[in-house]
Order: sequence, then structure tokens, then C-alpha cells
Amino acid sequence: MAKYINADCRLCRREGTKLFLKGERCTSKKCALDRRAGVPGVHPTTRKKASEYAIQLREKQKVKRAYGLLEKQFRGYYEEAARQRGKTGETMLSLLERRLDNVVYRLGLGASRDQARQIVNHTHILVNGKMVNIPSYQIKVGDVISVKEKSAKSELFAGVKEARVIVPKWLEFEPSKLTGKVTALPAREDIDLTIAENLIIEFYSK
Ligand code: SF4
Repeated sequence: MAKYINADCRLCRREGTKLFLKGERCTSKKCALDRRAGVPGVHPTTRKKASEYAIQLREKQKVKRAYGLLEKQFRGYYEEAARQRGKTGETMLSLLERRLDNVVYRLGLGASRDQARQIVNHTHILVNGKMVNIPSYQIKVGDVISVKEKSAKSELFAGVKEARVIVPKWLEFEPSKLTGKVTALPAREDIDLTIAENLIIEFYSK
């Protein structure tokens, strides 16, 4: 899959907010945004007042980058949400949260969404006892997400049992078994990034 090759921290600096792309580093003193805020580049823009379009674009880029998606994939979530009943922005965020790679990240099985995606790609994850290696797989209420028995002994998951990650309330996690369960669909208030999803909808609705 194509992916950004620029340093992840530049993306946070560009969006002016923490996107939590580098695992433990993001909550440590090494976080580049804490050490050096401001738009990256030799000649960062100095325009004082951003246009309406620019504000909408930045919000879209922020969320797209936080979930590690490319434009075509991200737009697909908007289009799918627009087809469904309810508020398009909230539905889109719910669809993004229900990606398997995001759930693996939320359970603390991966330190970042990027690492969680690799864990899924490398066939370490089971959903309801069956291997699923598709990061975009949409989880449902009642799904059980676990680590393959052979993989559970790997270094990759060595620290997970002691990590004590706080999982969102729509998930349950048993660290000793490296197993999580989806107890509800993610609601708007469960999404911890500061997002103005209405701006994204306005961006795509033009
Ligand atoms: Fe963003 Fe994490 Fe880098 Fe901080 S350490 S700038 S939160 S990717």
C-alpha cells in the first residue's frame, strides 16, 4: 500500500496538533510538537487569516493523517457515510473508528495506528477466532479480537500485558489473554481527537 514517506512528526507540526503517530514517543518529552511547534519547512506560510476552504482542507487533512489514510480511501468513508442515515460527519468518524487497525490500536496491541496496521497485515490478529489481515475490516458489536496463539509469545506483544492501556468504553480488553471485545459501536464522544467533522463534510460537499 502507498504511504507517506515524510517524517510523521512533520504531519503533526503541519496540522498544529498531536496526531499520535509514533507510539510512546508522542507522550514523552521527545514529542516534536512539544519541542518545536509551528509549520515545518524553510518558508512556512505567514498568512494571518486562512480562507474558509483552507480551514476545511486542514481539518480534513488532520483526520485523514491521524488515521493514516490516503485521499481516495478517506473520501470513500465520507461517501459511505453520506449514503447512510444519520449525521454524515458522525457516521464517517464511527466508520473510521471501526477499522480493525484502529481497534487493535485502541486495545493497546499496537503503539500507533501505523504499527497496528502492520500487526494486522502480518496476520497476527484473529476476529472471532479467524485470521483477518485486512486493516480496513469493519468490526461489529460482539466481535472478539485476539492475538494468534503463536504470535502472543512474540516480542511484539511482550509489553502489552503490563502496559495498562485505558481502552475506550465501547471496547473491553483482557490483557492476560490479549483479547478484546466490541461491546458497542463507537459514539461521537468516544473519539478523543479534537475534530470539527462539519468542516470535512463541507469540504467534500462542494
Ligand atoms: Fe506527533 Fe507523536 Fe511526533 Fe509528537 S511524537 S509530533 S504526537 S507523531
